[in-house]
Amino acid sequence: MPDRAPQPVDRQLPTDEARDLISLVRDIAQREIAPKAAEEEDAGRFPRDLFALLSESGLLGLPYDAEYGGGDQPYEVYLQVLEELAAARLTVGLGVSVHSLACYALAAHGTKEQQVEHLPAMLGGGLLGGYCLSEPSSGSDAASLRTRAVRDGDDWVITGTKAWITHGGIADFYTVMARTGEEGPRGITAFLVPGDAAGVSAAAPEKKMGLKGSPTAQIHLDGVRVPDARRIGDEGQGFAIALSALDSGRLGIAACAIGLAQAALDEAVAYATGRRQFGRPIADFQGLRFMLADMATQIEAGRALYLAAARLRDAGRPFAKQAAMAKLHCTDAAMRVTTDAVQILGGYGYTADFPAERYMREAKVLQIVEGTNQIQRMVIARHLAGPETR
Ligand SMILES: Cc1cc2nc3c(=O)[nH]c(=O)nc-3n(C[C@H](O)[C@H](O)[C@H](O)COP(=O)(O)OP(=O)(O)OC[C@H]3O[C@@H](n4cnc5c(N)ncnc54)[C@H](O)[C@@H]3O)c2cc1C
Repeated sequence: MPDRAPQPVDRQLPTDEARDLISLVRDIAQREIAPKAAEEEDAGRFPRDLFALLSESGLLGLPYDAEYGGGDQPYEVYLQVLEELAAARLTVGLGVSVHSLACYALAAHGTKEQQVEHLPAMLGGGLLGGYCLSEPSSGSDAASLRTRAVRDGDDWVITGTKAWITHGGIADFYTVMARTGEEGPRGITAFLVPGDAAGVSAAAPEKKMGLKGSPTAQIHLDGVRVPDARRIGDEGQGFAIALSALDSGRLGIAACAIGLAQAALDEAVAYATGRRQFGRPIADFQGLRFMLADMATQIEAGRALYLAAARLRDAGRPFAKQAAMAKLHCTDAAMRVTTDAVQILGGYGYTADFPAERYMREAKVLQIVEGTNQIQRMVIARHLAGPETR
């Protein structure tokens, strides 16, 4: 049995434009992203050049308005683009997803003047964004954040520390949630902060288990002065904005998880059909055939789930419950599939000579970011049974 080269995923796409877009992304993924992925992840190098190329190719603003330089693509298309990028390298797929998350507040809640002034550079002008909600002492309980913004004339002065910020230290702008009023979710306001504003600095990047090419760092805000014109939405609306950004962002994480799992399955199939033991390809053994079948089934189910949520979003219908389900299912599936891929490669799977071990390390973080999978279950349960009683 010869090695089986992976076949491209047979995607259901709504338009010819979307089909062309996926072809463009596959071409960039094959030529520019995948060949350097292992080496750059090993070295912990962020591919800033690639993000410049993605911006020039119109891939950093896909789900946003063409009027402001976006791609006007429905979420079902944008997410399949993310899936293709993440299959080539998670740092890139996740990076595009986080950049979109950072643009969301202004694109969905900014004033017309703010959108005209800032969005074109954010969506297609080569800028890279970061999203600053988490803090050292507030992760899952994000509404307890302590970073403060104090009004001073026409300005706000922001002080505090944000934690775990993807693109921390390299982003051109940050969407920052800070406390402007009472304790709890109603006292939080969103701001657009330039990455090079006086008083913004980054700690050394975290030393992570995986996703090493994607810098994650604390951001210190030390008396950072921004004009009121950089406040997004009303005072006190920041937490609601942050959560609605995460509803969409979670779909991005789900799509990235399925891309990663697909890459692991493709590798496992290629290996199992080439590797021989007991005089036969190991893909002949039913024990492994069933593993491959289960892996493929989890991936297809995940893809169907995130696309169903995306289509609800595209139709303007509520989708928060389905987004949480998609994030939960797809990231758990990615963890299982990548772990099984290592098993199928045997001892070789445990070495850095093959990407399976990297996929497995990368899958783990997807169960944690943008709300851990415990938090996704809380979100789903609230839709079913209402808020918890105390
Ligand atoms: C690589 C990476 C990139 C990240 N990027 C960003 C970013 O760009 N911007 C940003 O703002 N944040 C980012 N984060 C932060 C991420 O969103 C948080 O790590 C996550 O929300 C969990 O918060 P925590 O780490 O403080 O864990 P905690 O909230 O302390 O949770 C610890 C454990 O307790 C569980 N737990 C907590 N509360 C409950 C509950 N009520 N019921 C059941 N279990 C519970 C959690 O599920 C978890 O298992 C990133 C994190 C990582 C690792």
